Amino acid sequence: MDAPSSPVFEYLRISVTDRCNLRCVYCMPPEGVPKLDHARILRYETILDVVDAAIAEGVHRVRITGGEPLVRRGVVDLVRQLAGRPGLDEVALTTNGVLLAEFAGPLKEAGLRRVNISLDSLRPDRFTRITRLGRIEDVLAGVKAAITHGLAPVKINVVIIPGENDDEVEDFGKFAYEHPVVVRFIERMPFQADGPDVPFLSQEQVLARLSAFLTLERQAPAPGGGPAEVYRIAGGAGQIGFISSRTHPFCRSCTRLRLTAAGFLMPCLDSPEGVQVAGLSVDALRQAIRDLGRHKRAHGKTCARFEGARCISLSDIGG
Ligand code: SAM
Ligand code: SF4
Repeated sequence: MDAPSSPVFEYLRISVTDRCNLRCVYCMPPEGVPKLDHARILRYETILDVVDAAIAEGVHRVRITGGEPLVRRGVVDLVRQLAGRPGLDEVALTTNGVLLAEFAGPLKEAGLRRVNISLDSLRPDRFTRITRLGRIEDVLAGVKAAITHGLAPVKINVVIIPGENDDEVEDFGKFAYEHPVVVRFIERMPFQADGPDVPFLSQEQVLARLSAFLTLERQAPAPGGGPAEVYRIAGGAGQIGFISSRTHPFCRSCTRLRLTAAGFLMPCLDSPEGVQVAGLSVDALRQAIRDLGRHKRAHGKTCARFEGARCISLSDIGG
């Protein structure tokens, strides 16, 4: 149990857009998800009000995500405004990396601390097949730019899809051995019409394969360090991480609050609860956050069961 005084929410993930320049097979149908009307996409002013209310209620870290956050105009300015907020220790971003070579420098200059980049294959043809639209050269240039500009630690998010890229576990292990990045294997979650039985590779399966040729040492979890289990690679430049919501659910230690591109503030990505923030004052937003916090605590923070797979896609909610 949390101490009654510890805030329920410490970390806010903001989806700044539902649009994306890719169509990853496990995230979206080929035609994309139905786009929100422009008028329904949250204005930056409203996002900043939510952030101010969230800070007042205990949040001290934010992450900008999407959809693809770098396709929304003005995102560098949003980072600048967030980075200038007293009370925020960290502004981070999750991106598919396609536009990162261009944005890494301006984002760093605006105050972005670090970046997570999604990369599900190291093979050019396969990368294009999984993302339906992407070119791996662009993403690798983005990874390089993030390292060069010190958006550290650079984390590479990999979703392994059985039958698609499960033969690349070892290649990603080598990539982490050779580069100063944290390669994080994310267990695939069942969204869209997948149903709960969507195949995935578990942390144990990946760990066993990596341990056959790398010496991995489990690192002590950093205080408030999030749900990833991280391993040092003996002699290597980078690290390996696991985010295993299927086999090691981390709901009980979850302190995340989420703001969707359509302006729903949610206590969990798979929660039926949500408050529309448009038009609310900062005081009303603070009250809404307290109410969502009570709800999250009352459910023992086990909102996401993935049984009904209510989420349509992480692209709106913000993965
Ligand atoms: N477009 C950006 C990107 O791809 O990094 C940010 C948004 S994306 C929804 C955020 C993360 O969610 C990505 O790392 C992606 O791999 C992950 N994701 C999307 N659908 C997922 C699923 N069904 N299971 C696990 N992770 C998923
Ligand atoms: Fe776009 Fe990210 Fe979803 Fe891929 S995972 S389709 S890049 S939002």
